[in-house]
Parts: sequence; structure tokens; C-alpha cells
Amino acid sequence: MQEVNAYGAYMGDKLLEPMRITRRAPGAHDVQIDIAFCGVCHSDLHQVRAEWAGTHFPCVPGHEIVGRVSAAGAQVSGFKPGDLVGVGCIVDSCKHCPECEAGLENYCDHMVGTYNGPTPDAPGWTLGGYSQKIVVHQRYVLRIRHPQEQLAAVAPLLCAGITTYSPLRHWHVGPGMKVGVVGIGGLGHMGIKLAHAMGAHVVAFTTSESKRAAARALGADDVVVSRNAGEMAAHANSFDFILDTVAAPHSLDALLALLKRDGALTLVGAPAAPHPSPEVFNLIFKRRTIAGSLIGGIPETQEMLDFCAERGIVADIELIRADQINTAYERMLKSDVKYRFVIDNASLAALAPVAGKPHGA
Ligand code: NAP
Ligand code: ZN
Repeated sequence: MQEVNAYGAYMGDKLLEPMRITRRAPGAHDVQIDIAFCGVCHSDLHQVRAEWAGTHFPCVPGHEIVGRVSAAGAQVSGFKPGDLVGVGCIVDSCKHCPECEAGLENYCDHMVGTYNGPTPDAPGWTLGGYSQKIVVHQRYVLRIRHPQEQLAAVAPLLCAGITTYSPLRHWHVGPGMKVGVVGIGGLGHMGIKLAHAMGAHVVAFTTSESKRAAARALGADDVVVSRNAGEMAAHANSFDFILDTVAAPHSLDALLALLKRDGALTLVGAPAAPHPSPEVFNLIFKRRTIAGSLIGGIPETQEMLDFCAERGIVADIELIRADQINTAYERMLKSDVKYRFVIDNASLAALAPVAGKPHGA
């Protein structure tokens, strides 16, 4: 066991602050990682503010982790100290159910999230990547083939990248398809880059007029400001696939009306409150589908990382210190980030928790 510095919250209505946490000594199958950078996902905010049910405190968020291996257990094959690696949203699963055997650990009933998931380690739930080190079973560790200089911008691929890549692949996005990406935040900006790289005609949907030009630079062929009904109507019945990454409840009808026959609207945004139920006639008249998708499995995450490394694809990021996280959350809520905050975990070394506050208080 070892103590490391971390940044997290003691309650859902409290700001994040420095804390000390323990990490287990690496077991035979474990990889210990010195975390270099950790992306800031909107899910971190939902969880740490207890917007989703069941948050355990203290909560240390962070599931877009990149760094270097600093120790490996005796049974670890394929990773050695010094290797550049990543960890995404999953740190364990049952390993033998049909989902795990298919490499779809994300759909295992016993999938353990990188934070807030059950673990025998103290304090009884997992603590995430806003910390100096993490110890993870080798099955859930990813190899990073991007150059070291890009490492900070690779971090968001571990959640935002795979969460958009997986549905784009599942719905066979490629040349000749018209694809919409709704919400140009952390997930959405990766969705645009990836759908463009897969050869689709990509249309970005944003509520922010200020992102119109920027979305084209990400690879969008067209940009629609979704508050503008006229712009929306011009695309009626024309999309094969729309990926909705929005983090807040909103009407799905305006998006469904843009799908052509047999088109699919896939939701990856996970707002704390439900979307209003869509109008059924919007579905039946063109045999349209509404679906959902959760991150991606470990083999597909490696496939996505390699796809991005081969094409030089990384996230557009704003690098912050750990003690800037509370401000970053407020800016994320205002859609004021292009497009992902990433914590420089080296900044944790200088941060000490408030004296006298016991671990887990
Ligand atoms: P984000 O960076 O905050 O981006 C969300 C974007 O949604 C914003 O940038 C904004 O884009 C748009 N938006 C925000 N509020 C809106 C509103 N009221 N109406 C319409 N559009 C709005 O968040 P993120 O990290 O990409 O995460 C997005 C969601 O996906 C979160 O709910 C997160 O928990 C969830 N998530 C799900 C999975 C999964 O496996 N399914 C994985 C990771 C994250 P514009 O400014 O362009 O409008
Ligand atoms: Zn995430």
C-alpha cells in the first residue's frame, strides 16, 4: 500500500480539494501507473456532484488517464516499467460472462468503473485519475502509440474518444453516409473528428453560435445552430445516423425529424434528468430508431487508440493544474471549453491536503 496525493470532494455540494488516498501494492496481474495527465469528463462532474444516484464520498473522479508504467506484477505480460499506457472508464469486470468474452466489458453486469465502483481496496470504492498513481489489472490497461509530446491530448481519447468511436463503428459509419454530431463538447468534438476520419459527411449541431467556425476546423462539412428552426428544417429526412452527446435534457423530436427512413439517433449523453419522451409518429412513419451506447470494450478502445495514432488524431485540449478543477467545472457547464480540460497531474505533487483532515472524513 502507498499513499498518494489526489484531488476530490468529501460531499456532493462541496468543492473539490486536495486529499491523500491509498493505492494497493501491485498484485501479480497488476500494472502500476504514474499518471501524467487526466482528462475532465462531464461524467466526472455528474458523479462528484451526486447528480447521478449512488455517489460514495470521498469521490476522486477521472477516467481519461495516461501515464507511464512504474511497476508490473509477476504475471503481467505486455507491459513493463517505462511504457506509455492509458486507462479509461473500466478497471475490472467479471472476465467470464458473454459480454466479457466478447470483449464488451463495458456491458458486463459486474463492470467496475474507474471511480465509484466496488473494490476490496480502501475505502471500498474505486478512486479515479485526479491522483498521482493508479494500480489496475493488466486486462484494462491500454497501450499508447502516439508520440510522448501528444500525451496530454491523448488522455481524452480514453473516454470521449471511445464513447464516440464505438457507436460510429457499430452503426457502420463510413463514406456515403450523412452523420450528425450533436453538442460540440468533449465527446462531440471527438465524434466530429472520428466520423470525418471514417469518411462520412459530417454535420455538427451546436447551441453555441460561437462554435460555428470552430466546428468546421474539427472536420465538420456543415454546421447547424440547433436553436435556429430554419437551419434545422433544411436537413429534414436526410441523415443516416445522429450521435447525441448533450449533457442536459432536451427534446429529441427535432433531431428525429432529420433522420431518413431507417435512420438511427444514438444517445451517449447521460443527463441527470430524462429527456422528454419523443413523439411516436416521429419514429413509426420512417421506421426510425432511438438507441444508446456506453463507452466501449477494451479491445475496441485499443483499436480506437491505434486508429487515432495512425492518423495523428488527438483531442483539442486546455491544460490545467489540479487546483483549477472547480473553475474548470463551472466553465464546462457554460460550454466554455474548446474542447476538453486536461489536468497536468504533475501539479498534484505540490498540493497538500488541509492539515488534520483524516482520510475519508
Ligand atoms: P461537455 O464537454 O460538457 O459537452 C456537452 C455539450 O452539450 C456542450 O459542449 C454543449 O455543446 C451541449 N449542451 C450542453 N448543454 C446543453 C443544452 N442544455 N442543450 C443543448 N446542448 C447542450 O460534456 P461531455 O464530457 O462531452 O459529456 C457529454 C455527456 O455524455 C455527459 O452527460 C456525460 O456524462 C456523458 N457521457 C456518456 C458516456 C457514455 O458512455 N454514454 C461517456 C462519457 C460521457 P454546444 O455548445 O455545441 O451546444
Ligand atoms: Zn467520461
